[in-house]
Amino acid sequence: MNVIDSKNPESRHPRTASPVTRTLRTVTDLLEAGLVTPAQAPALDQVAQQYATAIPPAFASLIESPDDPIGRQVIPDAAECTVDPTEDPDPIGDDALSPVPGIVHRYADRALLKPLLVCPLYCRFCFRREHVGPGGGVLDDAALGRALDWLRTHTDIHEVVMTGGDPLMLSPRRMRAIMTALEGMAHIHTIRIHSRVPVADPERLNDEMADALETTRSMWLVAHVNHARELTPAARAAIRRVQARAIPVLGQSVLLRGVNDTPEALEALLRAQVAARIRPYYLHQLDPAPGTARFHVPIREGQRLLASLRGRVTGIAWPTYVLDIPGGHGKVPIAPGYLHEGPDGYLRVEAPDGTIHRLARERG
Ligand SMILES: *Cc1c(COP(=O)(O)O)cnc(C)c1O
Ligand code: SF4
Repeated sequence: MNVIDSKNPESRHPRTASPVTRTLRTVTDLLEAGLVTPAQAPALDQVAQQYATAIPPAFASLIESPDDPIGRQVIPDAAECTVDPTEDPDPIGDDALSPVPGIVHRYADRALLKPLLVCPLYCRFCFRREHVGPGGGVLDDAALGRALDWLRTHTDIHEVVMTGGDPLMLSPRRMRAIMTALEGMAHIHTIRIHSRVPVADPERLNDEMADALETTRSMWLVAHVNHARELTPAARAAIRRVQARAIPVLGQSVLLRGVNDTPEALEALLRAQVAARIRPYYLHQLDPAPGTARFHVPIREGQRLLASLRGRVTGIAWPTYVLDIPGGHGKVPIAPGYLHEGPDGYLRVEAPDGTIHRLARERG
């Protein structure tokens, strides 16, 4: 557990506490685990008034020091109480797009279904941090019924994107019931589940849960992974249980300061996904949720990071870098641009090595 790498400056604060055997939820839990100091406790009590904390044992065991790429994602910080004027409690405008509780509808052919607001861990940078938490609850039978009715009567919806909270925190029985209801809707041909469980609490994604995901529909799992070290043997085994049921697994990551914002860390993250047969799907620009400024990486820097990997990293590891436009206007790709118009009106294209080439057939 206490992996101490003398060459790694991040290991300056070796952990001395005993191995974590249950989910850490309170400031006292964090103190006992050696993840925070007594001096930090009063400020963290303040944070706890607003935001939930949970660090499951599998994730806690990966933390080598509180400020390492794993610890930063889940250990609360006094900075969360400082709200920047550019931040918004509903950064991507979901609230205005919810026709009934548990449904968010922004795009013509697909809708979000949020059956619960509980997560296996609480990411300190979460864009839904004002909503998620153990008190956020589960849609009760009546509310879930109304959400499913909405999907049943909206026949232009072809894809249901299950998110939350984290859908894999449902019981397998409830998951099965939702799958059965969706299978009864002829217009739904694709179901997608976004989840942090494969890396946060892989044992939860056991055979019983994987069986519950089996459906006649085109089913996809999108695993939220932000650092190569999250893809432990246990996480990879959980992902294999899903893949064994003919469910493809995609990856989504958030570009985060101090977690994956170096060429080395980003390359390792993308390669670790491909090694686990996960196809990187999205690299998200951080949404400006309250108290998350310490994770912000400017878009221009994100573009430079990706450009530095172009040509070096296999194309199947290449995610789409996306921004969810604040205010509810949707997601757009913000990858580095390779095409520019030259003074003669012909397009120029930049090669991975930085050389510029005129395209003789492409007048702008
Ligand atoms: C992100 C999102 C989706 C899914 O978008 P894709 O680009 O298809 O992954 C659907 N609905 C809402 C409201 C979203 O925010
Ligand atoms: S798992 Fe997703 S919804 Fe839950 S805290 Fe993390 S980012 Fe937010």
